[in-house]
Amino acid sequence: MSSNSVCIIGAGISGLTVANNLVNAGIEVTLVERNPYPGGRALFYGCKASDSCVHCGVCLIREAVMNFRRTHNIKSQFSSELTGFSRSNGEGILLEIETHPNIIDWRLCTECGKCIEACPENAVKIAPGWKYYVDSGCNDCGKCVDVCPEGAIALKRESMRESIHADCLVIASGFKPFDPSVNRKWSYGESPRIITGSDLEELFYTENYLPGVVKKSDCKRIAFLQCVGSRNVTEGGEYCSRVCCAYALQMAGRLKDEFPHTEIDFYYMDIQHFGKDFESFFGDVSRKVNFINSNPITFSVDRADRPVVRYESITEQKDKEEAYDLVVLSNGIAPGDKNEALAKMTGLSLDKSGFLYAMNGMGGVFVTGACKQPMRIEDCIEDATGVTGEVLSYLEERVQVK
Ligand code: SF4
Ligand code: SF4
Ligand code: SF4
Repeated sequence: MSSNSVCIIGAGISGLTVANNLVNAGIEVTLVERNPYPGGRALFYGCKASDSCVHCGVCLIREAVMNFRRTHNIKSQFSSELTGFSRSNGEGILLEIETHPNIIDWRLCTECGKCIEACPENAVKIAPGWKYYVDSGCNDCGKCVDVCPEGAIALKRESMRESIHADCLVIASGFKPFDPSVNRKWSYGESPRIITGSDLEELFYTENYLPGVVKKSDCKRIAFLQCVGSRNVTEGGEYCSRVCCAYALQMAGRLKDEFPHTEIDFYYMDIQHFGKDFESFFGDVSRKVNFINSNPITFSVDRADRPVVRYESITEQKDKEEAYDLVVLSNGIAPGDKNEALAKMTGLSLDKSGFLYAMNGMGGVFVTGACKQPMRIEDCIEDATGVTGEVLSYLEERVQVK
């Protein structure tokens, strides 16, 4: 048993940053991730650079994943979750981890791609910067096993439980995007022309930029609606999600570059400033996008199946309506769906919105990243770097006490 071992829950940008910093400081690290790949949700976001980098941070995640691939001294457990937590008599923490085995062993996989070609269900997927994994579409036909030259695929399905000891626990379990289908007023799911910012992120990742139903040549008008699921107690939280102004403006600017003849309207209550280059970035986007300061909105769909936005213009003090080819609901950050279980298990508190709250270091438990409050990618890296310092101080004090 090492006297300096840390378990990290979550291999998104925050967890990867802490893991990388700690192994560089000579600490033994176990990284537990529920997906079969590292990088978290934002691994499937697309770059939003226009003429120059707009600091969306997506490349930083790919870089962290590539670094992780090159680092051999982090013990990683994918498709795994924390299921038990107890303190072991002043000797640190005892953790129970449940693993649902990965069908593809990433350490053996050489990325030849034969399994993708062989799979009749399109169930073999690639995570960017990472390797291949199998999703829930798999029907156990075994064709991928037959073609894999490395013996990297095993169709075993039984879950395993393992107990591990750690001197402290870092929770970096991330967030979930707000789901606008919980409120019919957003009409999400009722028209393929109404999508979320999260959906658009994935379209950027595939470099398609528009959903299939919207043809590039017909796309004359796009609307972005801000604060969807944020700053509203009755549906999401009353907090500002802090990320959606940034990603929506970055995507709007990029779309205008891709489709210069498309008009883009940006409905907002306030614009959240972000990053040190905000002023020059905002000046650039302002030349591409029409800003409409408005109060909350209702929708309908017109005879041509286009979403119609009804709003109260704050500047003109009157109700107006506009039809669009595509509406993007800039959905905010909601607390991760495991927050409550993690809080119960580890003795942490939740704040009134459901984010994890910790006095970092109390009882050897630390919290970092978007599981404790909405954060942009760059902010997550900064926070994780600060938390690494706190973990190292905690470990040093423990050694001195011993
Ligand atoms: S066939 Fe095997 S080695 Fe090739 S990509 Fe698939 S899992 Fe990896
Ligand atoms: S077992 Fe069959 S369905 Fe499943 S991933 Fe392999 S080839 Fe695809
Ligand atoms: S970041 Fe912008 S869009 Fe998101 S909740 Fe805050 S003000 Fe609204």
